[in-house]
Amino acid sequence: MSGQRSLSLDSKLPSLGTTIFTQMSALAQQCQAINLSQGFPDFDGPSYLQQRLAYHVSQGSNQYAPMTGAVALREAIAAKTESLYGYLPDVGTDITVTAGATEALYAAITAIVRPGDEVICFDPSYDSYAPAVELSGGILKRIALQPPEFKVDWQAFKALLSDKTRLVILNTPHNPTATVWSHRDFDALAHAIADYPVFVLSDEVYEHICFAPEGHASVLAHSRLRERSVAVSSFGKTFHMTGWKVGYCVAPEAISREIRKVHQYLTFSVNTPAQLAIADMLNAQPEHYQELPAFYQAKRDRFTQALSRSRLKVQPCSGTYFLLADYSDVSDLDDVAFCQWLTREVGVAAIPLSVFCDGEFNHRLIRLCFAKQEATLDAAAERLLSL
Ligand code: PMP
Ligand code: GLN
Repeated sequence: MSGQRSLSLDSKLPSLGTTIFTQMSALAQQCQAINLSQGFPDFDGPSYLQQRLAYHVSQGSNQYAPMTGAVALREAIAAKTESLYGYLPDVGTDITVTAGATEALYAAITAIVRPGDEVICFDPSYDSYAPAVELSGGILKRIALQPPEFKVDWQAFKALLSDKTRLVILNTPHNPTATVWSHRDFDALAHAIADYPVFVLSDEVYEHICFAPEGHASVLAHSRLRERSVAVSSFGKTFHMTGWKVGYCVAPEAISREIRKVHQYLTFSVNTPAQLAIADMLNAQPEHYQELPAFYQAKRDRFTQALSRSRLKVQPCSGTYFLLADYSDVSDLDDVAFCQWLTREVGVAAIPLSVFCDGEFNHRLIRLCFAKQEATLDAAAERLLSL
């Protein structure tokens, strides 16, 4: 290399490793443990959806979809949004179909956050937000939610707001704490940011897995907030097919326009036959997502009941397909070490909570995914009873 400068890549994300989901699923496989770590169902999605995918492939719908999403799918999303949240987004301007919710979150953050902007999020927070904010030069301000209720301290929130605040990121139903926001929480947010030019990114990928008696509170149902908000959802959760990676975001035209500028050079467009099949599914079988809370509540209750005889203390779960278990009666290990030990020695893989937080998080809590067949849940519970 004489005469040449050596080539080295300075990392843009030096403190980042491989995601905890990839790490724990790999360890689970290596140890042949029951994998309740990474969130995905161990059962198949609706057969009608699969038939429609095969149909659209056979009919030659195999070229690029429109950049913003197949019209039939955007129409079905608009109709679903209106029937659930009383708000009809514009099919042409407000809805963008993305490669999973992950892409929608990334595109929205990239479109909104500029260098030096401050972004507020609530810890524990889903792991894809922070790197996206960092890559845009934003500064993340994290508010720690405290167990067992993980409620937002609105005084602490207001104290963080400044002229630099550009975006607030929230997630309801919440991964990993399984708590949900009510309409009152959205009112409190609207009140707090009323005088600030702040956007809202509402991650609602578990909108159809909500057990609260009043149902899922969406930012889209809030007339003042939705004017400044991006709502994100994922069909991977709704139709038990995380591997299809189809999601979407809903935002007013001026915000969607900027998100689409990012989306068109990130992926351009999303898998055509999958979009058409999902549109058919939404139109033909809305009962699938209407019945999803009861479907998952039965799994939650079965697993919670089985674990009630263990030394784990299961925390209340109001949404998502995760529940938290307190292991403080079992071990003094920190949560990362405990999850590794649990996977290796007990044969059940779980996710530690501290990885979703910055700095000190000293609670003895792990996340268990119950999007599993009854036999899987029973087998996992049997192993956990040995603790
Ligand atoms: N947000 C949250 C809170 C999630 O739990 C997930 C996936 N588990 C995503 C976003 C990403 O969704 P997708 O798989 O559709 O990209
Ligand atoms: N969101 C899923 C979870 O919380 C994992 C997705 C992923 O592996 N990137 O488990």
